Amino acid sequence: MKPQGIAVLGATGSIGINTLDVLARHPDHYRVEVLTGNRQVARMLAQCLQHKPRVVVMADETAAGDLRRALAEQALSHIQVWHGAEALVEAVRLAEVETVMAAIVGVAGLPSAMAAAQAGKRVLLANKEALVVAGRLFMQAVAAAGATLLPVDSEHSAIFQSLPADWCGDLDAAGVDKIILTASGGPFRTRAAGTFDDITPQDACNHPNWDMGRKISVDSATLMNKGLEVIEAHWLFNAPADRIEVVVHPQSVIHSMVQYRDGSVIAQLGSPDMRTPIACALAWPERIVAGVPPLDLCSLSALTFEAPDLARFPSLGLAFAALSAGGDAPAVLNAANEAAVAAFLAGKIRFTDISALVDAALSRMDLSASDSLDGLLAKDRATRDYLSTRIGV
Ligand code: NAD
Ligand code: MG
Repeated sequence: MKPQGIAVLGATGSIGINTLDVLARHPDHYRVEVLTGNRQVARMLAQCLQHKPRVVVMADETAAGDLRRALAEQALSHIQVWHGAEALVEAVRLAEVETVMAAIVGVAGLPSAMAAAQAGKRVLLANKEALVVAGRLFMQAVAAAGATLLPVDSEHSAIFQSLPADWCGDLDAAGVDKIILTASGGPFRTRAAGTFDDITPQDACNHPNWDMGRKISVDSATLMNKGLEVIEAHWLFNAPADRIEVVVHPQSVIHSMVQYRDGSVIAQLGSPDMRTPIACALAWPERIVAGVPPLDLCSLSALTFEAPDLARFPSLGLAFAALSAGGDAPAVLNAANEAAVAAFLAGKIRFTDISALVDAALSRMDLSASDSLDGLLAKDRATRDYLSTRIGV
């Protein structure tokens, strides 16, 4: 059989690297057609040498020029190097691309993920921000184009695997009462609230269980990541806010659960290694080797559960509130969070300012619903402008 053509968007990031690791184990099944990155030339060059894509897109123009020269030195000038946001959209539309791994971080990944859905591709979605910002339009595009949408986020992969195989988007028809999202609790699960102002970017990026990009690491530390995942679950599984529950499970072995009306709770377990949900989405409904060692149940001392503490982690409550408010509230929540996290990572604000700024943006911005992608992106920019003014940068 002809190998499946894959585009890996955000190839130089944590999910991208893990995706290429899985793909490299199955050269007969998959062919890497497109790789994209932002500005990491050395890493992209190494990926080109290994995977020989047809097209590479670098968001940054200077990085694209540097990569072209480096490829020429390696006698790989036939690999086309494009640059810019529009090129990302063109690359996913290539006829050779059947499957798109959407793993760019933040709203920067929304237009390309949306283009993949509109083009009817098989969309493997890691970029949760795309659904948070544009869930309604995204799900409409998937349905209209007959695209296949497969979750990569470990919790949503777990839920997807715990739902009936003939799941058709209706919780009641499937006998489901509730979706239970597990959260590790992040690096500050047991830290005293009075010390939160002293948290540094390095502290926040030091996650106990997962090795991830810096933005999602900070989101995991504030629990905004779980909040974004609640909104993601709402769109993926057609679940109202009151049927999504968050439970803190510090060992990150149960990746989420589905509770049925007869009392059954179906869970998916595994080591905290993103190659499992990536391989699951790549091969679905088949199963392929992911390079993940088997779970050693006897070495696990305990699986524990506790309720999230919304007082120390207000971002989770803000995300639930934004979901209930509807309209553009989730888009405003996301934009404010992205801008605040970037400011925190740059040393401009304190850890506790992140949720305070998101709260302020939700009070200040117009939350009425935009009906187009351009409208949502304009709301995203306006929210970032508001935050810049507040932060004074
Ligand atoms: P990362 O920071 O490690 O990688 C991000 C990728 O996006 C890089 O390839 C980077 O070059 C690219 N990128 C950044 N800004 C860009 C821009 N403006 N234009 C084009 N490309 C750009 O992030 P990550 O941890 O791999 O996360 C990627 C996405 O997957 C996020 O949405 C995250 O929430 C989601 N996710 C990640 C994990 C994980 O374990 N890392 C788990 C679940 C979901
Ligand atoms: Mg997750």
